Amino acid sequence: MSVDYDEDTNIGRNDRSSIKSLNSLWKRLPTDAACDNVIDLVTQIQYCKQYEPNGDWDRLEGTADSNMRSLVDLENRTQLKQSIASDFIDDIEQEAEIVKPETLYRQKLSNLMHSYNNKTSRQKYGDSDKFSSYYNSIWAVSKPEEVVPSIRKLIPKESDDEDDDDSDVEIGSIRQNFNDPITLCLFENPYTSDKCKHSYSFNAIKEYLLGQAKICPYSGCSVNISMIDLREDQRLAKR
Ligand SMILES: [Zn+2]
Repeated sequence: MSVDYDEDTNIGRNDRSSIKSLNSLWKRLPTDAACDNVIDLVTQIQYCKQYEPNGDWDRLEGTADSNMRSLVDLENRTQLKQSIASDFIDDIEQEAEIVKPETLYRQKLSNLMHSYNNKTSRQKYGDSDKFSSYYNSIWAVSKPEEVVPSIRKLIPKESDDEDDDDSDVEIGSIRQNFNDPITLCLFENPYTSDKCKHSYSFNAIKEYLLGQAKICPYSGCSVNISMIDLREDQRLAKR
C-alpha cells in the first residue's frame, strides 16, 4: 500500500483527518486471518507427519515458515508506516506545514526499512506474538509433552545476535498442549492460569485444587495456583 497523491502537495492542519483515516486503514490489514491460516496449515502438517513420517513435509514446513515471516514483515512494515503518519500528525498539530510530504514519507520509510532489513531474524520475529503462536502450534502437536523453548531460542542465532543467555530459556515460554495434564484427555471447558499460562479442564483442576492453593499439575512447573488465578480460555476452547 502506498500513499499516492497526484502531486506532492504540502499538507497542513486540514489534512489531519485524511492521515488519521489512512492510519486506521492500515490497522485493519487482514494479517490476522492470514496468520491464522498459516498456523492452521502448519498444524495440519504436524498431524500429517505423524501419519506419514516419510512424506516430503520439510518443503511444506519451509513454505509455511517463510509465509509466516512475510506476514510478520508486513505487519512490522505497517507499524513503521504508522509511526511516520503519527509523526506527520504531531507536526501538523503544532501548526507546521509539511513540505513535500510524499517525498519525505518515502525517504523516512526507506531509512526505516533499511534498518529493519539489517536486523537479524531474532530481532525481526522474536517479539512477535503471531510468530510465537505459530511455534506453539507446531510444538503442541509434534512435542506435546515438552515445554516450548522461548521464541528467540527457536530462531537460529545469526552473527549479529547477542550470545545466548541460558538463564532465559524458560522466560516467555508456554507449555502448550491440547490435553489436560490431569485427565490426559482433550480439554473440556478449558481454563488457563494467569500465573503460569498453563491450561486445564475446569472440572479436573477444580477437583485437584479442592479450593486450596496447590502447585500447578504440569510437571516441571512449580507455580502455586488457586481457582482465582484461572480464567476461561475461549481461544483454546475453539480448537
Ligand atoms: Zn503451570
